[in-house]
Amino acid sequence: MHDVVRRVDPEIAAVLDAELARQRDQLEMIASENFTSPAVMATMGSTLTNKYAEGYPGKRYYGGCVNVDVAESLARDRATALFGAERANVQPHSGATANLTAFLSFLKPGDKVLGLSLSHGGHLTHGHPVNFSGLLFQAVHYEVDQATETINYDRLREQAKQERPKLLIGGASAYPRAWDFVALRSIADEVGAILLFDMAHIAGLVAGGVHASPVPFCDIVTSTTHKTLRGPRGGLILCKQEHFAAINKMNFPGVQGGPLMHVIAAKAVCFHEAMQESFRDYARRMVANAQVLGASLMERGFRLVSGGTDNHLLLVNVTNKGLTGKEMEELLEKVGITANKNTVPFDQQSPFVTSGVRLGTPALTTRGMGPDQMREIAAIMESAVTARGDDAALAALKGRSSELCRAFPLYPDLA
Ligand code: PLP
Repeated sequence: MHDVVRRVDPEIAAVLDAELARQRDQLEMIASENFTSPAVMATMGSTLTNKYAEGYPGKRYYGGCVNVDVAESLARDRATALFGAERANVQPHSGATANLTAFLSFLKPGDKVLGLSLSHGGHLTHGHPVNFSGLLFQAVHYEVDQATETINYDRLREQAKQERPKLLIGGASAYPRAWDFVALRSIADEVGAILLFDMAHIAGLVAGGVHASPVPFCDIVTSTTHKTLRGPRGGLILCKQEHFAAINKMNFPGVQGGPLMHVIAAKAVCFHEAMQESFRDYARRMVANAQVLGASLMERGFRLVSGGTDNHLLLVNVTNKGLTGKEMEELLEKVGITANKNTVPFDQQSPFVTSGVRLGTPALTTRGMGPDQMREIAAIMESAVTARGDDAALAALKGRSSELCRAFPLYPDLA
């Protein structure tokens, strides 16, 4: 595949080669990343990228949509079957545009929204002042409880009763605990709010049956398809029939232009893959790996936000190790582990420094790694902290990470 590019553009072919080598040789622990299947990748690199198809299946503004109509219908049908939803819009280019569409389908500029604060694990699109969600809407935020570092639904209920938001948002980018959809629904009902759940991070866990589904409880569910769900980069909206027309109209022509048909077809492949028993097994292993990793890290004196995890990610507060999140991220990079610094609840450091790192198991689990490898990774992390400043020792640890990667080859047929 890279050779086709090399003949035309050697500079970009070199980037593709280097990135393939990096992905193969690094322990990828960014919680929002994963490795798509070759089938998903091949579909993205197909002739469907050439096609304009504004509109929806059967109602397009362009001719020649006969084949892409089939692809989008398959994607929609599979998304609804996979998640038990009434309707699906598979056109959002990303999680952010899925949320933009969702907001604009239900709200007018200036309406009040209540979402989890970014610094407590929420996402920019849940009302942060620099994002459309905070620029266009009156955003207020809930936080996790200081003692438990988890969401206190009683306090959230009180806050919602005071604030009376038009939209209540659940979902997060860095929250290691399971969500209580019964509580969210009853809070939304009590204050007359619309309930949106953004399952971008946990979509693969929901599809695989290892996290409760928000679909029966929410007015609208948004997602990305590229995190735990292991599909192409993109967004997804699930809703009840009664909201479908408004959401479709807001996504196009309201928010987007032409849909990315190659990505939509790849979403269909992803949903098909996620319906298989092997994906349920993947989801179980992803969570089991996170739990083993968390337990091993705690045995080694690392402090986990909320004391553990119920899902695919861990938030490690590294303050007691004498490090900032930024320093820990850099240290991990030196030993062949890719992760990201992350604020922890009530962080004293700036978002550029932070006190934590976020670690995820989706990509390593896709490679086939299991509990033994998680324990080895925890040992490498502990040794890295001890050996900081000792370049030779860090290089030796990087060798151990590379050995793990070699034992679980990635994309063996890609070149
Ligand atoms: N929502 C949540 C909870 C996320 O974690 C993310 C991505 O990090 C998004 C939305 C945005 O997705 P995208 O990067 O595809 O716009």
